Amino acid sequence: MESVKKSFDVIVVGAGTGGSTAARFAAKQGLDVCLIDRKDKNSIGDKICGDAVGTDIFDYLQINHPKGEELSCNIKGAKLYTPNLKKCITLMDPRQAGYIVNRLEFGQRLLNEALDNGISQFLENTMALDLIYENNQVSGVRVKLSDGSKIMLKSKVVIDASGFYSPLRKKVKSSLIEKEISKEDSILCFREIVKFSLEDMQVNDPEYISIILDQDKAPGGYIWYFPKNSSSVNVGLGAFMDYKGQVKEFYKKNVFNQFIKTSKVEILSSGGGVVPIRRPLWSCADNGIMLIGDAACQVNPLHGGGIDPSMRAGYLAANCAKSAIDAGEASIENLWMYNYNIMTSFGAEFASLDLLRMVLQVLNNEELNFGLEQDLLTGEEILEISSSGDLNLSLLDMAVKGFKGISKPNLLLDLNYLRIRMKEVSKLYKKFPNDISMFESWKSSVLQVYDKVRKMLINPKKVK
Ligand SMILES: Cc1cc2nc3c(=O)[nH]c(=O)nc-3n(C[C@H](O)[C@H](O)[C@H](O)COP(=O)(O)OP(=O)(O)OC[C@H]3O[C@@H](n4cnc5c(N)ncnc54)[C@H](O)[C@@H]3O)c2cc1C
Repeated sequence: MESVKKSFDVIVVGAGTGGSTAARFAAKQGLDVCLIDRKDKNSIGDKICGDAVGTDIFDYLQINHPKGEELSCNIKGAKLYTPNLKKCITLMDPRQAGYIVNRLEFGQRLLNEALDNGISQFLENTMALDLIYENNQVSGVRVKLSDGSKIMLKSKVVIDASGFYSPLRKKVKSSLIEKEISKEDSILCFREIVKFSLEDMQVNDPEYISIILDQDKAPGGYIWYFPKNSSSVNVGLGAFMDYKGQVKEFYKKNVFNQFIKTSKVEILSSGGGVVPIRRPLWSCADNGIMLIGDAACQVNPLHGGGIDPSMRAGYLAANCAKSAIDAGEASIENLWMYNYNIMTSFGAEFASLDLLRMVLQVLNNEELNFGLEQDLLTGEEILEISSSGDLNLSLLDMAVKGFKGISKPNLLLDLNYLRIRMKEVSKLYKKFPNDISMFESWKSSVLQVYDKVRKMLINPKKVK
């Protein structure tokens, strides 16, 4: 492997949706980019996933929308069901709804477009092992190449896009970046792509992805039923990490047996994975390094959608790498704008939804049925609070909610309390400091909001 080039402007670790996008936009700006992945080139994109991605990200990045082989089907929106299936909230969010993709073809396209944009080296079957430091600054990665040899690759900036189990996040020397993700903040999933004959079964509601909240069947997570094409579906379930070893069983009993109405099926793909479901890392950058996608917990905490934010972050990280390199040094001060852009955009939304997720996970099925059926918290409110940080319910609206919540006044109070905290945290994130010196005081304000919600969870219906 003597021909391997060893010095770059940017090294991107991981060629998933986030990494391929980061490498593409860094190269497009004229930076000298090396992209590495532990998989072989033809397997890039082959990931256990629900395969749903919205239309918005393609417009935002001004790249081609999925088509041809890459597009399995179009979807109009998401339907969120209560455990008793009596109430359905339809969410039309262009960041999540639009397409069901063939994940391998989609990943291959993103990789090929990154290569076409002129990245100078792609190393397949190459595993990042560790970070290299010089003067307290990340200056590259130590990697194991496909032939087993271990070498150092140097760069001005490292972008870690190596997914949930990022080995680099654990090695980073930083007081800003969290190394470990607690198990309460992750969900274990199992899913299958099931093909059947049209004579035996039809796809249910083929224009929508369906999500069913059910604390008994999918504790801490949800069941999903996503159309794939006219004769196949992507069905799965996520649950608390504590259910490791049982999730496949839950899937068979509560998903497959419930939704697949024929025994004559072909299983096209089967497997599990973990998704982070919390706000992004406190800081997604430090001297010489930025983290994107699952490695940085940039996943929607409510539904686990992480394709859009990983690509968004890839683009933002590439821009920031360019401006830091132009400014002469990829110091945390010069990379801070990446944090600012993340936290003030989808970071604000995800922090707000993180609080909602924490509360939904402790409600039982009866409370979920009641709260959502009685519109004590509606889908529109959830979208509005989390995206804008604003929701001004009129006195009349509140009175109507109060009236409907009369038989469960404590649940109403808790949901009102939650609504206020969601707004509070979203507003704090939108005021993320553009100067690192203010970071610690901002962080402690956010922690105070989290503490208030945690106290409510420990001591429900008592904190006002
Ligand atoms: C079961 C399941 C269903 C999901 N459904 C959806 C959905 O429907 N819609 C949605 O938007 N999101 C969904 N997600 C989440 C989504 O898949 C991720 O958020 C998204 O893929 C994150 O992209 P990424 O680039 O950060 O990481 P990944 O796509 O995981 O890419 C990481 C890359 O890094 C490489 N890598 C890892 N370690 C190393 C190393 N040491 N050295 C070199 N390379 C390395 C890997 O091989 C991989 O190619 C789902 C996740 C799961 C588990």
